[in-house]
This record gives sequence, structure tokens and C-alpha cells, in this order.
Amino acid sequence: MTNYAEFHRRSLEDRDAFWGEQARLVDWKTQPQQVCDYSNPPFAKWFVGGTTNLCHNAVDRHLKDRADQAALIFVSTETNQEKVYSFRELHAEVQRMAAVLKDLGVKKSDRVLIYMPMIADAAFAMLACARIGAIHSVVFGGFASGSLASRIEDASPKVIISADAGSRGGKAVAYKPLLDEAIRLSSHKPEAVLLVDRGLVLMNLVAGRDHLWAALREKHMSTVVPCEWVDATHPSYTLYTSGTTGKPKGVQRDTGGYAVALAASMKHIYCGNAGETYFSTSDIGWVVGHSYIIYGPLVAGMATIMYEGLPTRPDGGIWWSLVEKYKVTVMFSAPTAIRVLKKQDPALLKKYDLSSLRALFLAGEPLDQPTAQWISEGLGRPIVDNYWQTETGWPILSICKGVDDSPTKFGSPGKAVYGYNVKLLDENTGEELKGANQKGVVAIEGPLPPGCLQTVWGDDARFVSTYWTTIPGRMVYSTFDWGIRDADGYYFILGRTDDVINVAGHRLGTREIEESISAHPNIAEVAVVGVADQLKGQVAMAFAVVKDMTLVADEAGRLKLEGEIMKLVDGDLGAVARPARVRFVTVLPKTRSGKLLRRAVQAVCEGRDPGDLTTMEDPAALQQIKDLVTE
Ligand code: AMP
Repeated sequence: MTNYAEFHRRSLEDRDAFWGEQARLVDWKTQPQQVCDYSNPPFAKWFVGGTTNLCHNAVDRHLKDRADQAALIFVSTETNQEKVYSFRELHAEVQRMAAVLKDLGVKKSDRVLIYMPMIADAAFAMLACARIGAIHSVVFGGFASGSLASRIEDASPKVIISADAGSRGGKAVAYKPLLDEAIRLSSHKPEAVLLVDRGLVLMNLVAGRDHLWAALREKHMSTVVPCEWVDATHPSYTLYTSGTTGKPKGVQRDTGGYAVALAASMKHIYCGNAGETYFSTSDIGWVVGHSYIIYGPLVAGMATIMYEGLPTRPDGGIWWSLVEKYKVTVMFSAPTAIRVLKKQDPALLKKYDLSSLRALFLAGEPLDQPTAQWISEGLGRPIVDNYWQTETGWPILSICKGVDDSPTKFGSPGKAVYGYNVKLLDENTGEELKGANQKGVVAIEGPLPPGCLQTVWGDDARFVSTYWTTIPGRMVYSTFDWGIRDADGYYFILGRTDDVINVAGHRLGTREIEESISAHPNIAEVAVVGVADQLKGQVAMAFAVVKDMTLVADEAGRLKLEGEIMKLVDGDLGAVARPARVRFVTVLPKTRSGKLLRRAVQAVCEGRDPGDLTTMEDPAALQQIKDLVTE
């Protein structure tokens, strides 16, 4: 086994040689001339001069050795479908989709927005964009019209690909009306909408704009669409994520750096080999879905399972039955999902043959010790926590199993991953905290390694001001997470430094939810905070000031208004963002300068000491909240 400290040191100190070697894990049309150009910090350009294609690396290059091996395994317990696509079949489907996109006028660098459920066609769509050099922007299917509209506005897609409906718990969830409303709300209008008709919900097609995928596909059954060779720095996709302001940021990823980062992570972190099967339970709407449902496993020549359905339907053994059936070697999920499974019959963990499985990786939110212990004992397999963000695209902290035989520690996502120069910094002074067990902001010294965001889509200034200038006195990337590091170099993540909350592994900005609630005609002002929850990690709690308090004078009035607000958020952002409760107050706790004291509200909701309140304008405001939550 490699000496990991040395491996990590080399990745930073001998950066170009290290990443130059990793670059050999992927195919290039033209070899890169320069490994890293960091002449204009904090903008890093990786593999400059190289040309490549993500779809070629994920699909075409495997045709030589494994054309008839499984590539994409689509399983839906919602519609009871199961279909395995070999690399050859995937190659054909992706070309059909690419040909259709070209017919619809999509060219290199055009944006294509994908708003789809977890069906195989969504994978074809992503890969087809990569194939022709178009930039995809996948929007999570659980988001509603408001969220979708702001993403359409920002990405200005030429074409949108969607479907009649998703399905959850056996119930169809119509997508098309939400999409139509989002397009109506957005000032940017796509030229065309391509729709997959699953036969779940009737669709009203808009003449001249809407096209059915099945009909256009027919014309291209044997069309050959060659890969467009693009610069390593050509954007492959944007993915919107929440921050402290209401407007989501389009995380922009390159092509060459991303391909190399994923290929290297499959080797050093996930230890997945060509010909094996990878199973990530995430959704294509999230970063894990991009990196470890679609691109990572396929770039490594692995089959990837795309699963539509709940982890508990038909019963809590469904995932493990897939592990047995498809001989999954690497699995990736989120702590929330495991906490859901904990409520199921534990015998289901023992019912299937899981001998193929080497490890279960968990990420997206803090992994609590009881959950980690329960699943590790139940499966009898190593559990590896890894910490990262939409922005980075692959792990920042982990135990890199392929090059490090150090044990995992409960509660810790591990050590700094190669390529990441992770530091803990004092929030106020920017000073580096070098000692063990000191709490600081988790920061990364530039350049960020390959695969991380290049910039914020269309807004370089926002990229710099959001991520690189928040720590006084230095230009360093802030993760906006608190952390500590023990004497062995293991990090522990202690929560966000900003107003971002994490509900069941889904990252949400409290400001977005506040903006949505404020649109209600009877709401004057609102504060949304994330409150600890046993199952979901955190849930959103809203405290709203009502314009006319007589409306909430009795329980019936309060429930009515609470219901209206929840419906409003559902329709605007989607049910994922719906607050667990909306409580009504006459005033919100603020500083004398008018800043909302969200952290104090959160502390009170969690039964903790709200800390120093000397700057608070009206102490009675916090007392009202205390009374409500201890009622
Ligand atoms: P997202 O961009 O949606 O993946 O959310 C990233 C955020 O989720 C991070 O900044 C952390 O706050 C949290 N997070 C992700 N993975 C972990 C982990 N393994 N442990 C603790 N927090 C995590």
C-alpha cells in the first residue's frame, strides 16, 4: 500500500507530475500541453491544450473491450421496468438522442436543460449533450416551477428535455404542467422542448415547440454522430446549487479536468474496476448523480445502476436484492436513506447475498455514529463516509481506500483527499489553525484540483466574491463548513457557517424558502432556519410575521394559513423545500442594525443556548419563538 501522506504531499508539491500521470487514465484526442495554468488565480485551467470528449470516455472507448457488457442498468420499482443496456446499445441510444438534438438546432456550447425523472432517457440526454459539446443543466425533478424558471432564465437553454411525469410511491407526478408554467415565468424561452412520453400522464403539446422523443428517435435508428472533440477547459455542464442569496448559482464544470478527476477517484477512492457494477442511489438532479451515477462509473468502464423508486418499496430489501442480482461491488448512498432503512426489518439486510459488495460510501450530510454502526454491522461491509460539495464534484475528505489502508473513524469523513490543500482557518483573522482539535472554517488553498467548479456560470465576479474573499486577508476557497482536525489528520465536519441547510441530503438555501413564503399576500416577513431532525438530518422551520394577526387568532386560522404557505412553497420550489412547520409571530429577532438572528432562532428551536444576545433589538421576539417551540 502506498504511503498516503506521501501520495497526498506529492499531489500538491509535485502537482503537474502527479496530475499528468492521472491524465493517462482517460483518452485524449490531443495530449495536454500544460497540466495546470494558475496564472490568473483563483481561476484554474487544467490540461490546457488537450482535447477530449466526456461521452467518448464514458461510452465509445469501451466498445473495443466490452461492447456487449452491461453499461446502464435501469430499474424502476415505480413502473416495474428493468432494462439493461450494453455499451453498444448505450452508444446507439446516445447517438440517436444526439442526432435529434442536432435536428433541433443544438450546437457546441449551446445549453440544454434536462428536467427528468430517473429514467434511462435522462442518461442518454446527458451523454448526448457531452457528445456534441453542448452544455447540459440538469434540474432535479423534485423542484417546481419557480426553481425551474430561475434556472431556465440563468442557463438560457436552446432546448429543454423533459417527460410527462415522474413517479413516487406508485403515484405519477406530472412534470409537463410545471415545465409549461416555468417557461411562462421565465423571460428566456427555449426554441424546442423534447418530451419523453412514459404514458403516465396526458400531455398538452404546444404546437411548433414541443416534440415527442419517440417520434424523432425513429428517424435516427442508425445515425452516426461522431464525438465533438472539445478543449479540456470547455464547459461540460452547469448544475445549480443554493447559497446564501435567493438566486441559485450555476456551478460550471470543465471537461478534461472532470474526466481525469472522476477516473482517478474511481481508482483511488471507490476502487471500482471495469466490468463491475456501481450502484449509487442518488438522483441525476444532484452532483452525486452526475459524478457517480453517470460519468464516473461509465468512464471507469463499469455498469451503473439507475434506480427509480423508494428504498422501501416493495420492501426495505430492494437495494440489497439489486446488489445480489447485479453483483454490485461499489455502492454509494446518503445517511438519510440509511436512517429510513433502519426503521425496516433488519432481517432484510441478511436476506441477500452481498458478497460482491466491497464497500458502501455515504455522503451529502453528516453521518451519525449510530447509523454508521447499524449499517456496518448489518451489512458486514466497510462504510466509508466522504465529504464534498456540488462545487467540487468529487470528494474533498475521505479515506482513499485504493492508496491508504488507514482505518475509518466514526464521525469523521477522513483525511484531505489528494489534490486538495485543505486548511482550517480562523473565521475572523484568517489565521491557519495548525493544532489538533481547533475549530475553524474548512478552506482549500488554490488551485482547486481538476474537476472542481471553473466559475459560476456567466458570473466570474460572483465566483470570486462568493467563494474566495470571505476569509479576511487571504484568497482561499471557503467551503462554508466548520470543521476540526484531530492529531491523526482526520477531519470532523461541524455544520455550515452560512444560511444553507441540508434536508435529507438536499442542500437548500433558507433565503430561497423565505422569498417563496414572502410572496404570500398575508406575510410581512419570515425567517427560515434548519432544525436538527432524527431522520432527515435537518428540517426547515419557518417563523412568519402575519400582516393581519386576526387571521391566526385561533388554531383553525393558523392551520389554514400554514397549509396555504406550504402549498405555495410546494408550487414554487417543490416539496423538498416545504417547511416542516410554519409558526406565526408578531416580530422576528434581529440585531439593532436589522440583521435577522437566524442562528439564535435555530439554537432556541434545538433547545440550545442562543449565545450572546447583546446586539438584539427586542428580546421578547426570541421569547415568542421559545414559547412556540416548547409549547
Ligand atoms: P451539496 O453541494 O448539496 O452536496 O452539499 C454540500 C454540503 O453538504 C457540504 O458543504 C456539507 O455541509 C454537507 N456535507 C456533504 N457531505 C458531508 C459529509 N460527509 N459529512 C458532513 N457534511 C457533509
